[in-house]
Amino acid sequence: MHRLHAFAAVAFAALWTARGEVAVLRPQDGARPERLKREAADEVERLREFTAQAVDTIFSFGELGFQEFETSRYCVGLLRKNGFSVEEGIAAIPTAWMASWGSGKPVIAIGSDIDCIPQASQKPGVSFRAPLLEGAPGHGEGHNAGQPLNITAALVVKRIMEREHLPGTLRLWPGVAEEQLGTKAYYARDGYFKDVDIALFTHVDSNLATSYGSTSSNGLVSVEYTFRGESAHSAAAPWRGRSALDAVELMNIGWNYRREHLRLQQRSHYVITNGGDQPNVVPPVASVWYFFRETDYPRIRELHEVGNTMAAAAAMMTATSFSSRILGSAWPPFFSQPVAEAMYENIKQVGLPAWSEADQMLAKAVQREAKSKEVGLATDLAKLELPVKDEDKRGGGSDDIGDVSWVVPTATLRFPSNIPGLPGHNWINAVSMATPIAHKGATSGAKVLAMTVLDLVSKPELVASAWDYFRNVQTKETKYTPLIGPEDRPAVELNRKIMERYRSEMKKLYFDSSRYRTYLEQLGISYPTLRK
Ligand SMILES: [Zn+2]
Repeated sequence: MHRLHAFAAVAFAALWTARGEVAVLRPQDGARPERLKREAADEVERLREFTAQAVDTIFSFGELGFQEFETSRYCVGLLRKNGFSVEEGIAAIPTAWMASWGSGKPVIAIGSDIDCIPQASQKPGVSFRAPLLEGAPGHGEGHNAGQPLNITAALVVKRIMEREHLPGTLRLWPGVAEEQLGTKAYYARDGYFKDVDIALFTHVDSNLATSYGSTSSNGLVSVEYTFRGESAHSAAAPWRGRSALDAVELMNIGWNYRREHLRLQQRSHYVITNGGDQPNVVPPVASVWYFFRETDYPRIRELHEVGNTMAAAAAMMTATSFSSRILGSAWPPFFSQPVAEAMYENIKQVGLPAWSEADQMLAKAVQREAKSKEVGLATDLAKLELPVKDEDKRGGGSDDIGDVSWVVPTATLRFPSNIPGLPGHNWINAVSMATPIAHKGATSGAKVLAMTVLDLVSKPELVASAWDYFRNVQTKETKYTPLIGPEDRPAVELNRKIMERYRSEMKKLYFDSSRYRTYLEQLGISYPTLRK
């Protein structure tokens, strides 16, 4: 522990005006931010039990997008107890919230996702398939560790800011329904980042990393097409029916032929969300849900138009009609170079966690199970990732943090709570997420985050240069036009039925931190549990 002494009160006297513009900058005690950052890292370390228990708690809730009621109640409770004021239900999304503490500039918004993956229920610390509850959702993306990381960092920074009388406002918020790319564009549209100076985002990974500029992620628009025909007896009078399912199938066939003639960078995929009721009734209604991914706004729009053409053609072929609804969207992210560089300096100071032999044994067994290289957990720190050129992109996932990154300078911290070489969106990505691997990864991430927030509140010139980059590099030629319109509404009903089916059984498995130190202990799992 670094003991702090009294400091001269002249530091941090900069005056903040509009976003990133510094009016007056008085001399500072140059060494003070570094001392405060070391103190913050030590404080985060001391809170590691708290962080670990929050990671385990949210893991045990295992809630799908838009149904994160327990997770949100838990996070909001922690934040209120620690002096944050919280607005719930923001942007007309029941599980979304905005927590706020402090006053004045800079305003730092800190976010992370909270939703999980269908059918990914898995016992933590077990290297082979072993669901906690068969068929239930689970944290097969690792979104249970981000809020614990953010909250830990925020509590530590808040304490330091209070004691040092540092001006600034901390805002914490959840990425609700990230798997549906369902909410962040709505937060942006509804003005929740209007007065924010810098946005910091955290996401699970298998290394401690950050990037700036354009990334290998795509943007996307997510659209459900619903066809309407006419029912009839499938055997007695099929000629009187018009099958909406035929339209869905023909649309998909059309898309799958067209796919070969699309750019390599695109990714598109679909699921049939309604294929009719039973074979002897000609399906009067059927729906198919598409993700259209591309690397920039005009190309995403173009892909969406191709989809609309396929739907119209399929409707014409089957004498049905169709409507469509946007269920989610994401701009391709673009991250702030000045903020990412400052963050990377902190990443280098914190370094990767010290993995135990048990951690490495689990990681290698999981990699064997996933038919991946048995390299174990990361021991070499990732390099600062540079901008990716369009011609070097070869498709990839999306995150609606992209929309935030186009309205305020943003950087994403990725932290090592997961195992390298896994397929993603799979039960196997849940294995590490309530084990010492996830706990250590979240603690190291919280150190970097706390240090980066302290950089931002103590160095107005850093915020100013982030805005300079935002105005004169990032948005010089590209202007943000949301993929959602003013009439679109968040698809808050998604996943409701699935959660209703599993919730009561899952409740019995919630982590009880008043009785057990860890979730592994509560479940009676010896760490690690490997195939015999
Ligand atoms: Zn994610």
